[in-house]
Amino acid sequence: MNYNSFRRKTRKIRVGNLFVGGNSPLTVQSMTNVPSEDFSALYGQIESLEKCGCDIVRMTVPNIASVETLRRIKESGFSVPVVADIHFDYRLAIASAKAGADKIRINPGNIGGDERVKAVVDACGNAGIPIRIGVNGGSLEKEILAKYGSPTAQALADSAMYHISLLEKFGFHDIIVSVKSSDVRTMIQSYRLLSGMCDYPLHLGVTEAGTGRTGLVKSFVGIGSLLEEGIGDTLRISLTGAPEREVEEGRRLVDALSLGAGSSVNIISCPTCGRTKADLIGIVNKVEEHIGEMHPSGKVTVAIMGCAVNGPGEAREADVGVACGDGNALLFRKGVAVGKIGEDDVVRVIIEEVNRL
Ligand code: SF4
Repeated sequence: MNYNSFRRKTRKIRVGNLFVGGNSPLTVQSMTNVPSEDFSALYGQIESLEKCGCDIVRMTVPNIASVETLRRIKESGFSVPVVADIHFDYRLAIASAKAGADKIRINPGNIGGDERVKAVVDACGNAGIPIRIGVNGGSLEKEILAKYGSPTAQALADSAMYHISLLEKFGFHDIIVSVKSSDVRTMIQSYRLLSGMCDYPLHLGVTEAGTGRTGLVKSFVGIGSLLEEGIGDTLRISLTGAPEREVEEGRRLVDALSLGAGSSVNIISCPTCGRTKADLIGIVNKVEEHIGEMHPSGKVTVAIMGCAVNGPGEAREADVGVACGDGNALLFRKGVAVGKIGEDDVVRVIIEEVNRL
């Protein structure tokens, strides 16, 4: 389904060579986790992230040495936009904007006073780059926490609006916002509230989500629920683990909701049951391993089913489908049954059929 048909209307903001918001495609982000002062480590990680389909890379900029690395990274000619993540020190935000950052992530309320906010706004305005306001349940303003007692959804949304107002005061509107919480339901509600309060693009994420096991469930439920409501313009699956995994899982989520540009392989396979006679689990694993997740001709659906009861129905809907039986399988090509093949040939035939598409 085309996401724009039910997507909430947001402003279109340029980030490097792409756009976030408006009718732009959903983008998947990640963040480097090597020391930002280490140019070769950072270069290698950004290269690896770009290769696995990361649309926007963020790096932390905790000191002036990292600003220099950022400058060198930008001079290296990466096409993926690079975001400088700044905490508290407005001078690092200004230096990063001048060093070529494609976006600055900072909370203007945390940098102390109008003059500093204006200095950052001027630097970003001169560089033609946006600012992401990244509100986080763990670092809310004291006054807002005192008002709500805890980091509630309303508290997060109010904090975001407060930071937005500081930028708007100086005529700055190239803004992207996130209101992350480690509590999934709070996160969902805060984005819902915020999407009714402003039209800036929203960067979705569950913060401190955890490792692959729990983190994925939290992120898929939180981000997936919002996308399904048309809320969200860019996303990051935060995991305690390799940043490349965050990108792969982000792409999987977008594809699972059929909201991506559509160049992936979608494998549909039945859960197996007492009727299954073939080694379906082995077949699916081998097919997945061989054909990978992307396909040059666009979105391809492969159905691998375990019997003649539900099998043919699903197999017929796919680009390539098999309904396995006892020692053999019925092969479908674009909905048409084209004949029986032996069970031992199923993996090879599916790979050949997919490669022919
Ligand atoms: Fe069982 Fe057939 Fe359904 Fe697979 S498709 S779970 S084998 S009934």
